[in-house]
Amino acid sequence: NNGQAPGNENLRVVIRVRPPMAREIRDGKFISTVQVAPDNLQLCIFDYHAIELVPDEDLEQYVSNPSNYTLHQFTFDYIYDQDSTQEQVYNTTAALSVDSTLQGYNSTIIAYGQTGTGKTYTMHGFSFNPNSDQLGIIPRSLHNIFNHIQMKSNSSTTFMVRASYLQIYNENISDLLRDSASLNIREDKKRGVFVENLSEWAVRGPAEIYQLMRKGNAKRVTASTRMNDTSSRSHAVFIITVEQIEEKPEGKSARVGKLNLVDLAGSERVRVTGATGQRLEESKKINQSLSALGNVIAALTENRGSKPHIPYRDSKITRLLEDSLGGNCKTTFMAMISPAIDAFGESLSTLKFANRAK
Ligand code: ADP
Ligand code: MG
Repeated sequence: NNGQAPGNENLRVVIRVRPPMAREIRDGKFISTVQVAPDNLQLCIFDYHAIELVPDEDLEQYVSNPSNYTLHQFTFDYIYDQDSTQEQVYNTTAALSVDSTLQGYNSTIIAYGQTGTGKTYTMHGFSFNPNSDQLGIIPRSLHNIFNHIQMKSNSSTTFMVRASYLQIYNENISDLLRDSASLNIREDKKRGVFVENLSEWAVRGPAEIYQLMRKGNAKRVTASTRMNDTSSRSHAVFIITVEQIEEKPEGKSARVGKLNLVDLAGSERVRVTGATGQRLEESKKINQSLSALGNVIAALTENRGSKPHIPYRDSKITRLLEDSLGGNCKTTFMAMISPAIDAFGESLSTLKFANRAK
């Protein structure tokens, strides 16, 4: 591949390890299954054998003995450890996508992972205060877009920023910013791939985004599972469109860039959560769409150069993102993991999924 770095410069795969939660701390101690290398490019995950049988007082000794674990090693474009801040994640990962949107390209940031690993925290953050250091990628992106617009306020370019927010639940698309029936995906030459009748809201300043996020998040379908009280069973996609019209002596020229911010449903497998009935159906749909997404990303990276078949039509989420993945589009796949022993199986499967996307 003509001297390019491994992976694809248009696709970046990053990992974020969240800090331990109070309930994961045993007897005042936390045993991490994940170790991030100082270069933030490699990580190890420890598979401790039969650790659930080890009494609390013997834990420290047990985990320090290499014959009690197997190591799995992975390399990614970047690994954020548990001390990483929202600001670092924005500046070193998301800002590149925002720049690309401002240049008129489509870009996508996808948050993947088991429920409770920080997808929503990373994408939205749990604060609506513009000065909070907890702000996630969505509000930070908007603040940056408007900073850029401010800087250009003396130029001959006019900007229009619009936001939409949708969810995909059981393979049905609905609008999170107004009541809607199930929506359909369409495609035409001018607009590319779009969701028919999805509302678009003009955003005149960063403050307006909080109201939209609040409104949409309240509508998002959540239900409780054994893993977490309010586990997200839907994919949520926040779409920011930046349109710029430049007045030139020879006429007007328009550029449109789209930023898709995707907070996926939990990736935990059905058997883990012990689902039945409707929950089982939900889980199947989630599993199918996540594997479709994995297949699309893998096909995009495997077939560079040739003209591959990319199975976009296998799920709503991949169909929706069809013109925002691949090609000149910048895509960031962010996989979130918990460092806790209890989450070992899910964390390993998340790392394998992310590894396949490289
Ligand atoms: P998910 O959306 O993947 O189910 P959440 O974003 O809801 O997970 O995160 C679960 C909990 O963990 C929340 O209480 C959140 O505040 C906390 N959390 C997640 N990631 C981090 C982080 N990087 N730093 C601090 N707290 C975090
Ligand atoms: Mg969530």
